[in-house]
Amino acid sequence: MQDSIALRQQIIDTCLWMREQELVYGTWGNISVRLDDGNILITPSKVEYSLMKPEDLVVLAPDGRKVSGDRLATSERELHRGIMNKRQDISAIIHTHSVYAMAAAARNVGVPVISEEMCQLLGGPIPLSHKFVPSHAHVELGQVVTDSVNNVNAVLIRNHGVACFGRSLEEAKVCCQVVEKSCHIYLQLLASGGMQTIAEPWVSAGRDYFLNGYGKT
Ligand SMILES: [Zn+2]
Repeated sequence: MQDSIALRQQIIDTCLWMREQELVYGTWGNISVRLDDGNILITPSKVEYSLMKPEDLVVLAPDGRKVSGDRLATSERELHRGIMNKRQDISAIIHTHSVYAMAAAARNVGVPVISEEMCQLLGGPIPLSHKFVPSHAHVELGQVVTDSVNNVNAVLIRNHGVACFGRSLEEAKVCCQVVEKSCHIYLQLLASGGMQTIAEPWVSAGRDYFLNGYGKT
């Protein structure tokens, strides 16, 4: 994506959308987008979404160096940077503290594939980062979360929240919704005493259909 006022405004609008959808309270969520030159456009630390202006966003190099912007990038920048560097196929990351994802992230395992939506949008079971790291240890948090990222388009952050990815901001938004709904259903299934998960060949076939066949057949 090309850096522009329109793209920056789209990110701000997505911050407001996160709050409207009750995926975050306050400014406890953050967003990044990969630019065409490889740098990362990211939301600033501690700026109220309704007051955020396009010039408040920060550009970071893949190695974490600040390229432009007067503000400090979000304190969770290492998480965004680690995931962007590991997953070259994605261009947008949305990190939220949504309720059901947080509940699922307080368990000890990730979320299995329980719906067709998960096959297509996420591409597999949602992984969970392997240990709790407090937010103030943001370098370690970024490393631990990135270690758990695989080819699935989301990662649960243990006792913290979730990060959802996509090839575009719009796709990452849909992933946020699919993850929240999937975690909600999964927790209800656990409480009801059982579930039928989707076997791997169907998961890969569903993902392949979304990437290569959806809208073409
Ligand atoms: Zn967070």
